[in-house]
Amino acid sequence: MSNNTSTAKAFDIIVIGGGHAGCEAAAASARIGATTLLITHKLETIGEMSCNPAIGGLAKGTLVREIDALDGLMGRVADEAGIQFRVLNRSKGPAVRGPRAQQDRALYRAAMQRELANQENLTLRADEIEDLILGRDSWVRGVITAKGEKILAARVVLTTGTFLRGVIHMGTKKISAGRVGDPATTGLSETLNRAEFKLGRLKTGTPPRLDGRSIDFGCLVSQPGDDSPQPFSYMNDLISQDQIDCFITATNETGHNIIRKNLKKSAMFSGNIRGVGPRYCPSIEDKVVRFADKTSHQIFLEPEGLNDHTIYPNGISTSLPEDIQLKLLKTIPGLEQANMIRPGYAIEYDYVDPRQLFPSLETKLIPGLYLAGQINGTTGYEEAGAQGLVAGINAALTVAGRAPFVPNRGDSFIGVMIDDLTTQGASEPYRMFSSRSEYRIHLRPDNADQRLTAAGIGFGCVTKTRRERFRRKKIELDASRNLLARLRTTPTQLSRHDIKIRQDGVIRSAYEILAFPGINKENLRQIWPDIGAIQPEIFEQIEIEARYSHYLDRQAADIAAFKRDESLVLPVGLDYNKIGGLSAEARNKLHMASPTTLGAASRISGVTPAAITALLRYVKKSDRIVPRGS
Ligand code: FAD
Repeated sequence: MSNNTSTAKAFDIIVIGGGHAGCEAAAASARIGATTLLITHKLETIGEMSCNPAIGGLAKGTLVREIDALDGLMGRVADEAGIQFRVLNRSKGPAVRGPRAQQDRALYRAAMQRELANQENLTLRADEIEDLILGRDSWVRGVITAKGEKILAARVVLTTGTFLRGVIHMGTKKISAGRVGDPATTGLSETLNRAEFKLGRLKTGTPPRLDGRSIDFGCLVSQPGDDSPQPFSYMNDLISQDQIDCFITATNETGHNIIRKNLKKSAMFSGNIRGVGPRYCPSIEDKVVRFADKTSHQIFLEPEGLNDHTIYPNGISTSLPEDIQLKLLKTIPGLEQANMIRPGYAIEYDYVDPRQLFPSLETKLIPGLYLAGQINGTTGYEEAGAQGLVAGINAALTVAGRAPFVPNRGDSFIGVMIDDLTTQGASEPYRMFSSRSEYRIHLRPDNADQRLTAAGIGFGCVTKTRRERFRRKKIELDASRNLLARLRTTPTQLSRHDIKIRQDGVIRSAYEILAFPGINKENLRQIWPDIGAIQPEIFEQIEIEARYSHYLDRQAADIAAFKRDESLVLPVGLDYNKIGGLSAEARNKLHMASPTTLGAASRISGVTPAAITALLRYVKKSDRIVPRGS
């Protein structure tokens, strides 16, 4: 790490890495008005999808909506490049629905690159960063390129993905790389090590890619998208891109036997990989071992683009040697003659213990340095993009001398993810699930804009067009809610329109009637024709609110209680050794995570209610607790 005390600066913010986190970080800080430089290995790989060509899915779709609500890029870009839209779990409750869209990989890259090229205040540069410049006060002052050039900045956002000391594994072969075709990053790992960041190793994997022209789709079941594709972005009403089908096939016992016989040749099972992989996204060899009684595993054959013959076989990520991968493919229906364009592989990389970050994503060890994306132990484009957005916003806000934006568990999945990471750490690749959120009935994909856009407007990361659209939607929502609350009738009147509810004589509003199962807009419109004029997406949101009003009211009370605890800010540098009544485990865990609020302390596993009481007593007695905002 170089020491340089110069205070001159070329940029307000430098973002290292043009992946999903880096793109959102750079665009967000530039939107807020900070002069921003995005440096990445190659400009042509900005927006690259290293693994599956899809955005969204269960819980991830909500993250995309939240990114969009803060005027981030992912939703709009995915709408432009989306070639098959499906809302997963559509038949289940609205809280667990997952908007997902298959992407044309090349269109996605192109759309992302265009967004960044058109962004005011943002400069793009292809280069490799080797080191950081630190001031004597240990604040970050800028970056040093591989050729030794120094570039100064007031804040740096590091989003290096799977590149930190990345090693690709395929059978016994090991190649140093950040992903196939791209170099690994070693210098920055050393920088972080020297600054005493706790680095760990994680791994992830990708399946082989196939030539669609050699696949027999005729014998397979096709899987079409939704009849009317639903955009991710609140800015879009329609999807104009052509839509395609995916296909479904499956492994069988013949293939499983090949895997079992060759397990020792898999990098995962030969002991070559130390890093922990994602439990819920296992390799095919993992599945065959862990679910030994299953005779078949489903594979989705997903086209990588409209003018691209490449097929992504979702479900068979592997680190087996190339020849065994080929043998396995020959056993799968439809793939008997398939040509493998590129073998699958596993990749192992360094990540930083995210407990060394504040919830703003600024590091605790180097002020002014923010980390976002896979480097924080997460996996997935959406998780990366969401963190990038928060890091970029906060880098820009603090440069301008403003307080950081800390999303919380009560307002967003982004808040849940960041709180989980910064309080619990990540012992395996972290991905978002709805079940991680205690307030998931409130944190739905349909209302992300209602939860976040006003805050985004407040700190200036929402552009004028969206502001105006949001304002108009809010007026419509309020007017429609008022209308539904005003229109009232009795059960007897309802039964005359064939609407059957309890005959209890209670006069109910249209909003209350909507809470009954089986009642829809059409039923209500028969009684009150004005309801027909409410826009479908506006009506849908109110319908969900009405149906879940009982739970939502309860959650609103829980969220208010949660926010009270969150408002108790703990002092920085609290010495947990001085607090009596803490177990060694609680002391260690509190020390490791240095929680910023009493609420965050209470969510650390191993920190018991008794420990929280001791902590509260200590800080209150010594007058060391500060309500947030003071
Ligand atoms: P990336 O998208 O990796 O971007 C990092 C960027 O930083 C790159 O542009 C790189 O060029 C740049 N960079 C790195 N170091 C430097 C440097 N020193 N100087 C300049 N630029 C630098 N996710 C899943 O959810 N499920 C999966 O099954 C899955 N499988 C994966 C398999 C593989 C093989 C890989 C590589 C990734 C996989 N992922 C998977 C992860 C997914 O790709 C990442 O979660 C996501 O891309 C992370 O985004 P990011 O912005 O953090 O990093």
